[in-house]
Amino acid sequence: PQAVVIAGAGQGGLQAAISLRQHGFAGSVTLIGAEPGLPYLRPPLSKAYLLDGNAEALTIRPESFFASKNVAHLPETRVEQIDRAAREVRLSGPGGGRNLPYDHLILATGTRNLRPPVDGLDCACDLRTLRDAAVLRDRLTKRQRIAVIGGGFIGLEFAAVARKLGHDVSVIEAASRLMARAVSPLMSGHFAALHRDLGTKLHLGQPAVGVDGDGVTLVDGTRIPASFVLLAAGVRPNTELAEDACLETGNGITVDANLRTSDPAISALGDCASYPDPRTGRHIRLESVQAATDHARLIAARIAKGDMAEYAALPWFWSDQGDQKLQIAGYAGPDATEEEVAEGIVARFDTRGLVAVETVNNARVHMKARRLLEKGGLADIDAMVDAIIAA
Ligand code: FAD
Repeated sequence: PQAVVIAGAGQGGLQAAISLRQHGFAGSVTLIGAEPGLPYLRPPLSKAYLLDGNAEALTIRPESFFASKNVAHLPETRVEQIDRAAREVRLSGPGGGRNLPYDHLILATGTRNLRPPVDGLDCACDLRTLRDAAVLRDRLTKRQRIAVIGGGFIGLEFAAVARKLGHDVSVIEAASRLMARAVSPLMSGHFAALHRDLGTKLHLGQPAVGVDGDGVTLVDGTRIPASFVLLAAGVRPNTELAEDACLETGNGITVDANLRTSDPAISALGDCASYPDPRTGRHIRLESVQAATDHARLIAARIAKGDMAEYAALPWFWSDQGDQKLQIAGYAGPDATEEEVAEGIVARFDTRGLVAVETVNNARVHMKARRLLEKGGLADIDAMVDAIIAA
């Protein structure tokens, strides 16, 4: 293809542009992003940035990258519509008011915060963008009673920072345990103990039903007083562009093992893409830097070099809460079992054997687990677990 258009200038969209040029792609590359400024890293928004306010440290590539690599970056510009027949996208915003032709289109539109059916949510803050994080940072300069709706990674990372800054913090989680979608019950328990030790009040198994200027009401009528409320109850993939263009979607934009949508001239990546897990064939959608980056690299190699390798990267993830770094190597579905194989190391199994390893403050074991799981030597589970612990 001569012209690649990338819709969404986040972690994955920018990586696609970087990798296209690394692979020697000589056509035009246009990166279109709805947000202002240069593409930035989101993970520090709930971690270091809240403490240091250093927005420059989040920039992934400096302004000079775009000129030197001949990548056209259009900030504050949205892709409004895809015309698949004409192979054009319609843009709005400062870079908009025109149609842009493509030979290949990459959808990297990410997610937006889920708004659960809770009364009064308008007055709750979000934590998705740099702009959101700047607002939160401002609020944290004054002593606050904070209620966090959602006991997932982002809510808990924020809660730990807010406690460190001396605020009164409550976390409300509808499920009976923390980070229930992503980690084992043992890890949920470990982190519940950590947050309680830090002085955070946890309300588990009770959804919030109302938010007002004075706090949050839970389903059983309990009132959690709060001067401000953070909503961190998960996200929704931005699939509207794809849906309007009649591309296949489910829990995200559906792609095949080459990360192509139901239209082979359009790929999708990262948080918005639902792709076949190479280990089970089942479609999954991951919200991680790893998935966005590895997806982008595979798509770029296909476009630039015609490389038709199927996506096979091993998922990995991290989350920093207080002084504890949780790391996950591999991917465990909802039916996986768990076993604590040593202190702070939880192995997860399904019918195929060892599928994931969770560690706390143990980068060596995490890296070892990644290497072993990548090789896929699932047969001798005991030997594998021994090898991981002996790292
Ligand atoms: P994004 O980076 O979200 O980028 C999508 C971009 O597309 C956005 O800028 C959006 O404005 C833009 N867009 C959407 N629609 C359009 C349109 N129609 N036209 C133009 N632009 C559009 N992951 C980890 O692995 N570890 C962590 O510790 C971690 N911490 C996180 C903490 C926070 C606070 C957040 C919010 C996320 C965190 N993540 C973490 C997740 C990680 O940041 C995401 O998985 C990653 O950014 C996904 O990249 P992406 O390119 O798919 O989407």
